[in-house]
Amino acid sequence: MENQSNSKQTQQEHTFTEGLSFEGFRQIMKNFANDRDWNQYHTPRNLLLAFTGEVGELCELFQWKGEVSEGLPEFSEEEKIRVGEEMADCLAYLTRLADQCKIGIIQLKQYQEKWK
Ligand SMILES: [Mg+2]
Repeated sequence: MENQSNSKQTQQEHTFTEGLSFEGFRQIMKNFANDRDWNQYHTPRNLLLAFTGEVGELCELFQWKGEVSEGLPEFSEEEKIRVGEEMADCLAYLTRLADQCKIGIIQLKQYQEKWK
């Protein structure tokens, strides 16, 4: 019985979030900036530089690890949490950058067509 339960867990599809769309995330980040009057600082150039900085923070976590495997078994649980946090930082700045540039990140139909 326990093996069946474990088997179901391993067969579950990995998901990013539950019930949060890219558009929903864009709106959350826009509201976050508006509430703090940060639009004056969120110019495309500043957002791009901030995004690049966060990519650097993410890269730092992988630095000196060598090649890593799917699921990051080489990382501690604490390191995996940090990876997720830095990915979220990257996504937040990339989302703000796209929003301030008035460019949609995910135009799914076009993206699907591109990779057919
Ligand atoms: Mg960060």
